[in-house]
Amino acid sequence: MKDRVMKFMVGRNGNDQLNAFLLIVSVVLLVLGLVLGRPLQTLFRLLAFALLILIYFRMFSKNVFRRQEENGKYLRIRYQVFAKLKAFKERWVQRKEYKFFRCPACHAVLRVPRGRGKIKIVCRKCGDTFIGRS
Ligand SMILES: [Zn+2]
Repeated sequence: MKDRVMKFMVGRNGNDQLNAFLLIVSVVLLVLGLVLGRPLQTLFRLLAFALLILIYFRMFSKNVFRRQEENGKYLRIRYQVFAKLKAFKERWVQRKEYKFFRCPACHAVLRVPRGRGKIKIVCRKCGDTFIGRS
């Protein structure tokens, strides 16, 4: 039996991170549907079912290149989201000692110590200067 499954899966995409994410989304949709009740429940069930079909399609797909491309796109987006969350968390932790500015020229995030009054801020990235209250 295991042999037959393995033979069947040869040359197919199998499971990847995007499928794991889609599975979580479908479970969340099912739970949300239960919480919200009718008529949204029917809609959320249908969406979760559609996602399950998509998951199976991706798992058994023989177009491994396309599926890996999709997974790569998902991983890049996930990385960006986590990087933004991490930066936000760091700013939150440092909010009492530092004030954060965005460079008007290049949009880089700049950190200056608080309590220095009105100061001239020089962007380390592009060299642009502007006045800010720390
Ligand atoms: Zn700049």
